[in-house]
Amino acid sequence: MTELIDGKALAREIRGQLRGAIETLADADSRPGLATVLMGDDPASQTYVNMKQRDCEEVGIDGRHVDVDGDAPAETLYETIEDLNADPDVHGYLVQDPVPDHVDYREVIRRIAPEKDVDGFHPENVGRLVAGDARFRPCTPHGVQKLLEAADVETEGADVTIVGRSRIVGKPLANLLLQKAPDGNATVTVCHSRTENLAEKTRRADVLIAAVGVPELIDASMVGDGTVVIDVGINRVDADTEKGYELVGDVDFDGVKERASAITPVPGGVGPMTRAMLLYNTVKAASEQSGVPVELP
Ligand code: NAD
Repeated sequence: MTELIDGKALAREIRGQLRGAIETLADADSRPGLATVLMGDDPASQTYVNMKQRDCEEVGIDGRHVDVDGDAPAETLYETIEDLNADPDVHGYLVQDPVPDHVDYREVIRRIAPEKDVDGFHPENVGRLVAGDARFRPCTPHGVQKLLEAADVETEGADVTIVGRSRIVGKPLANLLLQKAPDGNATVTVCHSRTENLAEKTRRADVLIAAVGVPELIDASMVGDGTVVIDVGINRVDADTEKGYELVGDVDFDGVKERASAITPVPGGVGPMTRAMLLYNTVKAASEQSGVPVELP
């Protein structure tokens, strides 16, 4: 029987566990505060920030949203960043990617105070993660680790193949799974758009993680029997639905589930975990900035 790894249920459990920590911080006058910043009016980004704000409200985090005109100069965004860096009520914040073409996202990230960088993208935080001393684990890779742990998948000694080498998923996840730690200790192979014989590398994996952005790239012929499959992909494909599209992953779920020992669905797998781990990082930031210790899930 293939196990369906339920990210929605695990994310709900983590949000529930975070509530206790949030109340402890609130009782000490340090209710966690998370700000989202959106430059421009990209509809998908608006949906994402709305969801993040809703999540804050649900668990008792003080959510704040700042819109920056998409035609404004980069300096206007930098001023917002300086304000948030200086605001003691904001423990963490993020600038939603993408930013307009005239703004350099890397420069934006460099200006965020590292202790408030709850996405974990600032070069200092990337360096700390690689050095094995992570301050904030980036939300999607951390969510994947939590899903593996909840499904009792041992990474120690396992052959893990990650397809995708992005700054936000593939690379940090590879680093985390390599760490000398109980939720690491894996032998990691990272594949990408220039990888040759991709199927050969995916078939030999004990754990296969797809973070590509190509709908259903991974089919049953690329998966060995008994593999644990984590599908990070979220792709909109045209469909005869009310919205005119549906969401599919990077894995051909129906075909691959016949071979996998466990698999995450899309939606309802990694996506909800990414959102939950943003709340986790915000609570961690508030605890560290206020000096009030809390127990994290
Ligand atoms: P990205 O475009 O930054 O990176 C994609 C990676 O896939 C690149 O490293 C590229 O080399 C590799 N790649 C592309 N085509 C390939 C091919 N044919 N064979 C092998 N490798 C190939 O994407 P990203 O930001 O890492 O996102 C990947 C997917 O994950 C997207 O669908 C995105 O929407 C989704 N995503 C989901 C979450 C979540 O919370 N579930 C979070 C982030 C991203």
